[in-house]
Amino acid sequence: MKIILLGAPGAGKGTQATRIAQKYGIVHISTGDIFRANIKGGTEIGKLAKSYMDAGELVPDSVTCEIVKDRLTWSDVKNGYLLDGFPRSQYQAEVLSGFADIDLCLNLEVDPSLIMDRICGRRVCSCGESYHVSTLNGSTTCAKCGKELTVRPDDNPQTVKTRLDTYEKNTAPLIDYYKAKGKLVTVVCGDKNPDEVFKAVCEVLDK
Ligand code: ADP
Ligand code: ZN
Repeated sequence: MKIILLGAPGAGKGTQATRIAQKYGIVHISTGDIFRANIKGGTEIGKLAKSYMDAGELVPDSVTCEIVKDRLTWSDVKNGYLLDGFPRSQYQAEVLSGFADIDLCLNLEVDPSLIMDRICGRRVCSCGESYHVSTLNGSTTCAKCGKELTVRPDDNPQTVKTRLDTYEKNTAPLIDYYKAKGKLVTVVCGDKNPDEVFKAVCEVLDK
């Protein structure tokens, strides 16, 4: 199974991707996570990506597409993979079609009025888990691994505004792009909780 996960920032792509990967035994590939790991590691890619990410803009295609192309040559993708955060533009989608044959594009449709609160209330752990302050009951540590939770540097109102604009302009057109290829399935999340969304996602993937 080769899947693209599409959705606005704050749609819950990361949360669903972790669950999908676990249940279906496929690899979760998140370009955002790859960039954050590079920033943490102080690599050249990390240095370049940081300024774009902090501004809420897209990291240049030359870098992003190469990273994904290389990642898809690893042997662990044999049983399938889930792309989370890539492609983010029609250009990236076309580059991707040059080295990958995607089965399905899963579009998570979220209620736009929820996005700002969701993202600005997000707390993340270096283990990959993420939470919302409203469900933490004042805790500042990860329930899974105990580490201290942090706020992503780009999870602030100003950057979120730019990320949403970037999404509308560059990424949302991919909905029609994959629809035209007969590969799009939309799951309407509305204000459903992650468990409810995952149930709907599984119904699609089990078909
Ligand atoms: P979200 O979907 O919640 O906004 P991500 O972790 O997917 O967050 O992405 C964070 C940032 O990483 C983006 O705002 C962008 O700067 C960069 N990024 C991630 N994926 C791509 C991509 N495919 N092309 C260009 N930039 C990307
Ligand atoms: Zn953790």
